[in-house]
Amino acid sequence: MQIPNWSIIISALKKWPLGKKIFFGNLFLLILPLLILAAFMLPAPFTPANPPLPQGPEAGPLAGSLPIRFLPGLLVLVGTLLSLCAAFFLSRWLTAPIRKFAEQFDAPGKNGPPAYNGGCETTFLMETLAQYVELLRTSREKLGTEVQIRKSAENFLQIYKNIFDNANEGIFITDANAKILAINKAFSTITGYEPAEVIGQNPRILNSKRHNAFFYERMWHDLGEKGAWEGEIWNTRKDGSIFPEWLSINAIRNERKETTYFFATFYEIGELKKREKQITFMAYHDMLTRLPNRAYLENKLTKNLAALPAEGGKLAVFYIDLDNFKNVNDVFGHNQGDELLIQVTQRFTSALSENDTLCRPGGDEFILLMEHIENESIVYLMANRLLAVLKKPFLVDRKKIFVNASIGISIYPDDGATGLDLIRSADTAMHKAKREGKNRFFLFTKGMHEVIYNTFRIENGIRLGLKNREFVVFYQPKINIQTRKTSSLEALIRWKKGDELVPPNAFIPIAEESSLIDDLCLFVMEETCAFQSLMKQQRVAVPVSVNISPRQFHNADFVDIVEDLLGRYQVAPEYLEFEITETTAMKDVEHTLKIMHRIREMGILFSIDDFGTGYSSLGYLNKMPVSTLKIDKQFVHDLEEHGGIVATIIAISQQMHLNVVAEGVETEEQLLRLGAMGCQEAQGYFFSRPLPGDQLLAYLLAETAKGRLEQT
Ligand code: C2E
Ligand code: CA
Ligand code: CA
Repeated sequence: MQIPNWSIIISALKKWPLGKKIFFGNLFLLILPLLILAAFMLPAPFTPANPPLPQGPEAGPLAGSLPIRFLPGLLVLVGTLLSLCAAFFLSRWLTAPIRKFAEQFDAPGKNGPPAYNGGCETTFLMETLAQYVELLRTSREKLGTEVQIRKSAENFLQIYKNIFDNANEGIFITDANAKILAINKAFSTITGYEPAEVIGQNPRILNSKRHNAFFYERMWHDLGEKGAWEGEIWNTRKDGSIFPEWLSINAIRNERKETTYFFATFYEIGELKKREKQITFMAYHDMLTRLPNRAYLENKLTKNLAALPAEGGKLAVFYIDLDNFKNVNDVFGHNQGDELLIQVTQRFTSALSENDTLCRPGGDEFILLMEHIENESIVYLMANRLLAVLKKPFLVDRKKIFVNASIGISIYPDDGATGLDLIRSADTAMHKAKREGKNRFFLFTKGMHEVIYNTFRIENGIRLGLKNREFVVFYQPKINIQTRKTSSLEALIRWKKGDELVPPNAFIPIAEESSLIDDLCLFVMEETCAFQSLMKQQRVAVPVSVNISPRQFHNADFVDIVEDLLGRYQVAPEYLEFEITETTAMKDVEHTLKIMHRIREMGILFSIDDFGTGYSSLGYLNKMPVSTLKIDKQFVHDLEEHGGIVATIIAISQQMHLNVVAEGVETEEQLLRLGAMGCQEAQGYFFSRPLPGDQLLAYLLAETAKGRLEQT
């Protein structure tokens, strides 16, 4: 016999629905007592102790209807039927709520447990509940994450709110119809409006009426097209004051690209604009006098010229340069110089009308633009007025200072087509005024540009010439009229350009306007010292004088350079002399005197060149360490006419115990007359033209040989 597999049976039983289990359980419980009862009621087997029941009349009351032995079976049958019914209804009644409960899970969520398929309700419920518990757990986890996300979103919202509230920029948000929905604190601070006063309003309440309809049209156009607009805008505060701000507006759109909100930020730019104005002012003005500067003038000129009528429109440019202003700075210091410039500005300004613009391009220069020139006489009047306002002395730090100016004037259209041309022409004319003696004005003429071009050409030529050793020094003897012997020489520079010998008058004045004269002077002194060595070797050494320009006295190294040269070439100081003109001597007298004394202390003698042509003061001449006066050749040339001057110069030199040399002696007659007048020395073509070093050396050697011959 096969052993039944209990575990399969048990698990199959487990799967039974609860109703079945209760049904069979009840059935079993109900039928069991019935069966026991029936068993008791069953007739005992026919044993001697138990004989079969009597049949017939002695069988009792039942004996006649049903055989008594079927009675237990009948009872069991009826009992079973009743039990069946009771078990069925009991099982239905007991399991009804559980089934109902299980059936509630009949339509679970998509990912939920499977529907109840009629099996064991409790198993189904347990499995389902387990799955629900799992579902609940994952849901709770999800919820946790969700809560976390919500929390951080809330945090972010709080941060955004803080940023919104505390931003330095004013912020406002409007709906699509530009109705203000929210503003931040800075909005209130900047505009003065509290939230209650603006929320629900249109930002138009800030309108300053500074911008026209077109401005706003463009703004809305940009917002529509690009979804953003930013720019400078003037708005009004609650108190009515207007202010500039930088405004950025962004349209916020939904997925359908419809604008739902506008987000706008702005900040005040009043301070910025003020600074911007300051910077622009600084870029176009001179900070000392607060006058417009050159850049401003050039701009204005360009604009004005463009606006002038094609025919007949005229304007004038004045280039004004203060004379000798450098001296004021040197003597009184830069602060006083600045003060003087401010006062000069005030005086000039007082002479102007509203059509005139005075600028200061820098230093001691001013440029005046005069518009609407009807005739040139206005220009002359203005120039005279400008010079006239400078006539009275200036009072700076309780000191009286006199200042003049040189003015050059150019007129449009004759003197230049552009602003720059006009300024350049006026500058050229101003330089002409300087050259002609300062404190005056000149109108520009075409020829002036040629002079400038020439100057430029010569300056460059000198620079190159020095490099290429194109310069040479010639020497001209000065003769003792009594002995007719060479007493000294004068060094005279020449520029050898190919075969041509350029005379110094063609380039020295130009070199004197720049530092080129320093280089030329150094060259002549070096050549002279080298020539001294040659003369010394040949035993014919005589002193040589070198012409010194006024600029040398302002060269801080001049004395050192001279000292160095004497040392390097081993030249005794008494063999070097300096010739300075009266004008040089009288220029910045105090300073010149100081330098002259230092040089004289070194043992070098001074001559005053071209004496009688300048304006030297005899008082100062007395203070100067001068040993010789040179009579200018123009007086010698016409002794008949200038005899008186020559005699006076000779008398002065005798009075002051000075040596006197006559220049430009070309004839014996001149020589004799000068000798008779008491002149000690003569220089001129009569004896010798200026000669190159080797020829002059030969001249000296010949003279010495002749002298020796005469002695024997
Ligand atoms: P300066 O110092 O008065 O020189 C005298 C000028 O008279 C020289 O002209 C000379 O050649 C000229 N001369 C001499 N004897 C006669 C004569 O009998 N008749 C005529 N008509 N002229 C005579 P140069 O060499 O042309 O020099 C002209 C000026 O150039 C000089 O006048 C001087 O002021 C300047 N110069 C010459 N060399 C130098 C130099 O090395 N340095 C500076 N700073 N100036 C110089
Ligand atoms: Ca000279
Ligand atoms: Ca001279």
